[in-house]
Amino acid sequence: MKNEQTTQRYTLADLENWRGAAAGADLPIRLGVFGDPVAHSLSPQMQNAALRACEIDMQYARFHIRANELRSALRLLRKLDFVGINLTVPHKIAAFAQIDEADESTRRAGAVNTLRVRDERLVGSNTDGEGFLRAVRSEFSVDVRDLRVMILGAGGGTGHAIAWQCALENCERLVLVNRTCEKAQSLADQLRPYFAGPRVLGPAARLEAVVWDEPALRTQMPDVDLIVNATPLGMNLSDPTPIPARLLAPHHMVFDAVYGPTKTSLLRAADEVGARGANGLSMLVHQGALSFSIWFDREAPIDVMRKALGR
Ligand code: NAP
Repeated sequence: MKNEQTTQRYTLADLENWRGAAAGADLPIRLGVFGDPVAHSLSPQMQNAALRACEIDMQYARFHIRANELRSALRLLRKLDFVGINLTVPHKIAAFAQIDEADESTRRAGAVNTLRVRDERLVGSNTDGEGFLRAVRSEFSVDVRDLRVMILGAGGGTGHAIAWQCALENCERLVLVNRTCEKAQSLADQLRPYFAGPRVLGPAARLEAVVWDEPALRTQMPDVDLIVNATPLGMNLSDPTPIPARLLAPHHMVFDAVYGPTKTSLLRAADEVGARGANGLSMLVHQGALSFSIWFDREAPIDVMRKALGR
């Protein structure tokens, strides 16, 4: 079997002339990730390792697709010989309105990260919520259902999926924070029925949407255990931390969905106060393994995928 994987970054123009653009590829490109930015994505190295291990003669590539190009890219995808696609920042919510079918996890979250191409139709799934759940269990040896969770970036595609998963798990408490607060508020309205029952931990409301400012966050901090960053803050080394160290305490667990070669600013802040932290690599592996299973209707070689990321 050939195993030369492309490191090239394809574009909408390449999809428009796919036969020509993909002609040089050693193995047929039948999977990929659409995003902007996308150069940082580690999905190709992880998914290509899985394809090799399963002796599936195809490869997974990166596609730099801008927000205003998504509709055209999805229209072209329907006509091409792809198995499927992952969607990453900023496409998960926009794509939801442009696909032909969606499974329950996708409909609930209103966001999609995994597409299958079937008979020129795009079928959407969302593996972020379940991937997050498994990552928290493996990184912190706790179950989300026992935690008071705060999500920063609750209005984004990943934030939606994680918030829904927390609600389905019936976590102790959920605090939704978003730069555009109305989005967090509207998500809280949808999730309210899941938090109607009383739980044991103190007088704080079980579900709240709060504005993203320091006084509001400071008030919440004693009543949360797990802080999740679902914003892209941290993807660039120069990004500020979404929560300053002065608001964190040693009892906090800090989960950054962002992954990178070095510690994000948020994880450095967690280190500063002695809080436990984990980056998004474990979530990447779990959500990616679930995507692989959806595409190929078989279990993913998760150890191979983990190893491909140096885990
Ligand atoms: P998205 O749909 O574009 O959502 C972005 C979210 O971040 C929105 O809530 C947005 O708030 C907020 N935001 C953006 N810039 C901000 C800033 N400068 N300050 C404060 N808030 C800001 O993106 P996404 O697809 O959910 O992805 C979010 C991040 O999660 C990305 O870094 C992605 O790589 C990561 N991720 C990792 C994994 C993994 O497996 N590890 C999986 C999924 C996603 P507004 O609503 O106000 O615009």
